[in-house]
Amino acid sequence: MSDNCTCGCGNDYDQTLMTVPELFGTNVFNNKTMKERLPKETYKALQKTITTGSSLPPDVASVVANAMKDWAIEKGASHYTHWFQPLTGTTAEKHDSFISPTDDGGVIMEFSGKQLIQGEPDASSFPSGGLRVTFEARGYTAWDCTSPAFLKEDESGDVTLCIPTAFCSYKGEALDKKTPLLRSMSVVAKQALRVLKAMGNTTSSIVSSTVGAEQEYFLVEKEYYLQRLDLMTCGRSLFGAPAPKGQELEDQYFGAIKDRVSSYMKDLDIELWKMGISSKTKHNEVAPAQFEMAPVFTTTNMATDHNQLVMETMQKVALRHGMVCLLHEKPYAGVNGSGKHNNWSLSTDDGINLLDPGQTPEDNAQFLVFISALIKAVDTHADIMRATCGSSGNDHRLGANEAPPAIISIFLGQELSDVLEKLAKGEKICKKGACQTLKIGVDSLPELPKDNTDRNRTSPFAFTGNKFEFRMVGSAQSIAGPNVALNTIAAEALEEIAVRLEKAKDVNKEIQAILKDAMTKHGRIIFNGNNYSAEWAKEAEKRGLPNTRNTVDALKAFISPKAIKLFGKYNVLSKDELHSRYDIYVEQYAKHINIEALTAIQMTKRQFIPAAIQFVAELGASLAAAGKYGSVQKGLLEEVGKHLEAAGKKVAKLEVETKKAQGISDVAKQGAAYRDKVFPAMTDLRGDIDALEAIMPDTLWPVPTYSDLLFNL
Ligand code: ADP
Ligand code: MG
Repeated sequence: MSDNCTCGCGNDYDQTLMTVPELFGTNVFNNKTMKERLPKETYKALQKTITTGSSLPPDVASVVANAMKDWAIEKGASHYTHWFQPLTGTTAEKHDSFISPTDDGGVIMEFSGKQLIQGEPDASSFPSGGLRVTFEARGYTAWDCTSPAFLKEDESGDVTLCIPTAFCSYKGEALDKKTPLLRSMSVVAKQALRVLKAMGNTTSSIVSSTVGAEQEYFLVEKEYYLQRLDLMTCGRSLFGAPAPKGQELEDQYFGAIKDRVSSYMKDLDIELWKMGISSKTKHNEVAPAQFEMAPVFTTTNMATDHNQLVMETMQKVALRHGMVCLLHEKPYAGVNGSGKHNNWSLSTDDGINLLDPGQTPEDNAQFLVFISALIKAVDTHADIMRATCGSSGNDHRLGANEAPPAIISIFLGQELSDVLEKLAKGEKICKKGACQTLKIGVDSLPELPKDNTDRNRTSPFAFTGNKFEFRMVGSAQSIAGPNVALNTIAAEALEEIAVRLEKAKDVNKEIQAILKDAMTKHGRIIFNGNNYSAEWAKEAEKRGLPNTRNTVDALKAFISPKAIKLFGKYNVLSKDELHSRYDIYVEQYAKHINIEALTAIQMTKRQFIPAAIQFVAELGASLAAAGKYGSVQKGLLEEVGKHLEAAGKKVAKLEVETKKAQGISDVAKQGAAYRDKVFPAMTDLRGDIDALEAIMPDTLWPVPTYSDLLFNL
């Protein structure tokens, strides 16, 4: 490492002198650092805790804390924070310095085992959905040692030691996204292992759910962003006439990356690599000014922490480059929005990916079991999966022919679907010209095409060769919720299979029966066609698949008796926790639309209407001066006048509807009012404002246009 310090923090480096492997993970208290810095016995005890989930003995915790503190101080840190993920979907941190006063008026730097393991933030301002009343506001944070501590650096060079933690109420109820995620990981791990053991696996001892979250985002010139109240308060444009060019030339997707963006991406990679986040792929996305980053997959827990850091870092680094990163699902009308592809699988400690079809009959059998489990799980709980992707932002995407519809289905690819159907029915399958009835566990399956990835981009849940890609997730969302659902529904289906296999006399025959059951009872969830087509919506309805088009309705799936039973059975989320989440998420929806409405009102009254009035005045004066040549002015005056009048009426209506919605106390009714009254009033108003923009002089238009925002990077 070079000691060239560029920011004065003693912790920076000269990138040109450091190789990527040297740089990677420098800000993480990772395995390598632990090994170097912890006494052997402490290291072993900590590793045991990490792999088995046992609790960390206090004496071990203090040794770890001390080593962590020394490491962080050497890297320039003076503070630490328990870093957690409240139900806002973002992250939270409260910084405490290591200082501890001494008798002689000085200080020493201290960090105890207790401070490492547990914190007590005043939790009263985080959403709890009634789980925690204000007078007993204290929640507590508890170290999740399965996700390593790391350092966050800010622009000034300030460094903070961040300890990933779960956040609970004193009664132990989850107030965050991490707690249920950890619970769900452990239940799916347990049931998957049980299935493996019942199939005779003697080598694996741990199963982990793994995730790689591809993150889409937009960049916008900061100068323009600051002139758009809607971008600043809502993260999306509430107004904007279309630019003459959109994405129709298909010249952005995978196009050459512009220097300014490329230098942003390089900086982003460096920041992510330092934090041990394996940013791997970067490219231009479909819409103008839209991009994507994909990391290498890791355990679901780390992937979730990392994705939160990715979103934060993307925003932070953009500012350095004079840009702003927009993570909203739909920053601009008329071009694609952003999503997050949540690639999910299960793998073992001895390196088996349980969704890899493999080559041998045994591997094939294992694959078929796990595929059967997912077919059943997704069909049974499609409503829950849909609910986990509900947000006011994602409502703009789902079903808008740029993202999967709101209907959950599974894409397996034609070849795999055919094989599964034939196997289930005991029909002959052809391999290299020869056709025979294959016996599961005895014969090997025909070779499946390795790369299904590009075959179907329209499916919400696509099998892509050795993992499932959940494509419904919104770009601004935490991936915790979707993965809590995936893990838990998989656990339930796997448990049922484990019970059958454990009792079975002939395991392979039982697998055949399991597959048959999955295909006959749940095969309706498989759809390999175009999910964007109108025919699919009709077909899905015939098949009885839910199609819940908006967040407020979709969220109800969290409090259905089925969900309460499922999450309760596995202690992932109790009935109270589910109800609290439901309340919080509906409230969040309402709050977001409320902010949008207030923003739309303000921009209309303070920017657009005054600009239009000015134009009317100018036109009037010009008309008077024009004599017989006033026909253009007259026409314009007519049109501007019409939209101005309409905008005045519509903004008044929006104000009335917003006031009414604000006054509703029932959460569900309020959510519905924002959806059915406020949102449409806002959209209606937009029509006139955008029409005004299209005919008014550029010099009078008070905000940067779509052309500025989309094509000026
Ligand atoms: P795509 O064509 O969708 O970009 P990739 O092969 O590049 O396909 O994978 C996309 C994401 O899937 C990456 O983040 C990758 O690390 C992740 N991924 C690959 N294998 C797995 C797995 N077994 N479990 C979870 N995620 C995985
Ligand atoms: Mg992908």
